[in-house]
Amino acid sequence: MGNEKRNIIWAPWRIGYVGGVRKKGCFLCAALRSDGGENLVFYRGRHAFAILNLYPYNNGHLMVVPNRHVKSLDSLSPDEESECLLIVKAAMGFLRRKFKAEGFNVGLNFGKAAGAGLEDHMHFHVVPRWNGDTNFMPVFSGTKVISQSLDELKKVLMEKFGAEVEKMKGRHGRISRHKSN
Ligand SMILES: [Zn+2]
Repeated sequence: MGNEKRNIIWAPWRIGYVGGVRKKGCFLCAALRSDGGENLVFYRGRHAFAILNLYPYNNGHLMVVPNRHVKSLDSLSPDEESECLLIVKAAMGFLRRKFKAEGFNVGLNFGKAAGAGLEDHMHFHVVPRWNGDTNFMPVFSGTKVISQSLDELKKVLMEKFGAEVEKMKGRHGRISRHKSN
């Protein structure tokens, strides 16, 4: 039972890669380079960016990606690593507050054996969860409704997410200055 549930939660993360793998080149690098309205990048940092998943498992499913095309966690520089995590935390805070997310799956898939479809450009998945949301999965798969809501979601994130990251940076500073508590 437990395994079955885990499959339901994790397997859909592969769906988003199908389009990217068939095309030549890396769709994450292409998205980063493109400034067209069609791509789903909503935040560009110095070392990392954030993009909505085109085939979300849940509304708000996003990916945090180092700008540099690197394959593994080990290849990240300390700056890249810390900016990625900062954006992940900002995304969680944003989704919790604005979309009332009640939980999250945050993770990395490495290698085909782990379910990764795009092996070359590592990225963090952030999937917001709501109590009972596993029932919604069929509703969300690849419908027109999703693409409209993705556009709207992108708009909201583009307007507000930068401030969220800045706020998180400020908090980061405070935490490192005052280690107690
Ligand atoms: Zn890439």
